[in-house]
Amino acid sequence: MPQIAMVIDLNKCIGCQTCTAACKSLWTDEAGQENMLWNNVETKPGPGYPRNWEEKGARSGWRDGAIQLGGLHDPQDYGNVSALNHEEVYFKGTEQRLQRKEPLRSGANWDEDVSSGDFPNNYHFYMPRLCNHCTKPACLEACPVRAIYKREQDGIVLVDQDKCVGTRMCNQACPYDKVYFNYVIGKTQKCVFCFPRIEKGEAPACARQCPGRLRFVGYLDDADGPIAKLVYKWKVALPLHAEYGTEPNVYYVPPLLPQAFDAEGRFSDRSRVPLAYLQGLFGAGVESALATLAAEMANRKAGKRSELMDLLIAKDWKSLFKIKDVQLV
Ligand code: SF4
Ligand code: SF4
Repeated sequence: MPQIAMVIDLNKCIGCQTCTAACKSLWTDEAGQENMLWNNVETKPGPGYPRNWEEKGARSGWRDGAIQLGGLHDPQDYGNVSALNHEEVYFKGTEQRLQRKEPLRSGANWDEDVSSGDFPNNYHFYMPRLCNHCTKPACLEACPVRAIYKREQDGIVLVDQDKCVGTRMCNQACPYDKVYFNYVIGKTQKCVFCFPRIEKGEAPACARQCPGRLRFVGYLDDADGPIAKLVYKWKVALPLHAEYGTEPNVYYVPPLLPQAFDAEGRFSDRSRVPLAYLQGLFGAGVESALATLAAEMANRKAGKRSELMDLLIAKDWKSLFKIKDVQLV
């Protein structure tokens, strides 16, 4: 089965949330979808969204060939929605100032830009997240009424809204917490990889709107496309938490960040982000991926050619996407 995939270069993400807004305004702006962020961008290290999803992830997904149900989050893990007093200010004139009707207690990006480590070697980076359109989707396996299916033409995982009866088994099984419950219609909903756009040869809105030009979209099986080059040829794009066992199809180029300062305030040869932390996210391959990135950056700085750097820099935005006219192997 051909598999559409995305590579996200964490070295270029500036946490602007344009992707989040593009997705939200296109797909999830109705009642019942307030806390739905099919695409979110979280600060790492950090609890992410929903809060502490990795703790649930570690007890969900596939283990020893069987699906694990990791339970449901406390609603507070998604934060609270608090409306503004528009009516009172704009229509009744009883209040002068816009304010929230109840205080915000938590929510997506509650911990945005909170660094880890000690000054001056503190660090953080941004990690966009969406449904991974997994090759072995735990959500699909867990659904008792077979409402979730994986399309043969591109591997996109979708929830059939006519069949879903809202058991939320998929919520419990997805280790990435990328299935959301619409409490108004009583059904689960999730990222659709902008399939109507894919069918027209256009990239998903999150990728097309990204000002950082850091999301690559194409088919894993297209040997000449950007995805296969980054994942298989250069081996710098790695799946997130591969140990969850779902074989995710969103890959990440890990962040290099500047080196740590030494006691004299000069750059040392020590990495600022602890390698163990990155290995916890992206597995053992992260060390060689970082070494490849550093070596190719040095090549480019020395004036040599580097296919990898040219690909990652993406001077021409069209080089990010190869969705149409693909020769699949
Ligand atoms: S990330 Fe979760 S919701 Fe998406 S396909 Fe994988 S298991 Fe299903
Ligand atoms: S739009 Fe691009 S740069 Fe901005 S947060 Fe999303 S992925 Fe990062």
